[in-house]
Amino acid sequence: MKEQLERLIELQKIDSKILDKKRMIDEIPLRISEAEFPLNESQTAIDKIKQRHDSLELKKRGKEKELDDINEKIKKLKARTTEIKTNKEYQAHLKEIESIDKERSTVEDEILIVMEEIDTSSKEIELGRAKFRTEKDKIEALKKKLESEMLEAERELLPLKEARSKIVGVIDEEIYKRYISLFESYNGVAVIEAKDEICQGCNMNIPPQLFVEIKKDEEIIHCPQCRRILYYKNST
Ligand SMILES: [Zn+2]
Repeated sequence: MKEQLERLIELQKIDSKILDKKRMIDEIPLRISEAEFPLNESQTAIDKIKQRHDSLELKKRGKEKELDDINEKIKKLKARTTEIKTNKEYQAHLKEIESIDKERSTVEDEILIVMEEIDTSSKEIELGRAKFRTEKDKIEALKKKLESEMLEAERELLPLKEARSKIVGVIDEEIYKRYISLFESYNGVAVIEAKDEICQGCNMNIPPQLFVEIKKDEEIIHCPQCRRILYYKNST
């Protein structure tokens, strides 16, 4: 029995290491997608500016068309100047030209404002893209690091799994079944230290008589409360 307990302690050590590595590997996709989150945010911000940029371009084209129409109107008006007979008609004609000229300069000013806005949004897009590239580089580097960590962990798993099957081969089948059932119920901890008369798994006080037995490390003894297999770690 003493040997069986020693093997169980060893198996628990190996299984804890395997579990740690598996958990670490499982977390990697989540860590990558968390790292990618700001990248998605940056892209959304760029898309938003781009949308505004496009609508400004559209507005500019509309205003330019408006300006073309006004210029055409002015051209036609000026062509009519020679047909004017009276002074009164001439005054009215000049007024019309003046008013349409005013309209033209308003549209020209509006075009200038839109062009400035387009310029600003172009710069914002450029800045956004630069930020995106920096973030993407950072994430790529992190991805590479995590992927190599994952490969490393997978490599380290191989000898652990080998050691595990070796030890399982020399553990009594019935005891192994008990171990596995506890391992699954208790999140990977089936064999645990009994320290200062306390089960380190469930914190229950171990009756002194039982603790004496555990200290011998000869029998497979279960915690009276959580059923985990207990052992005593000799500090010497
Ligand atoms: Zn316990």
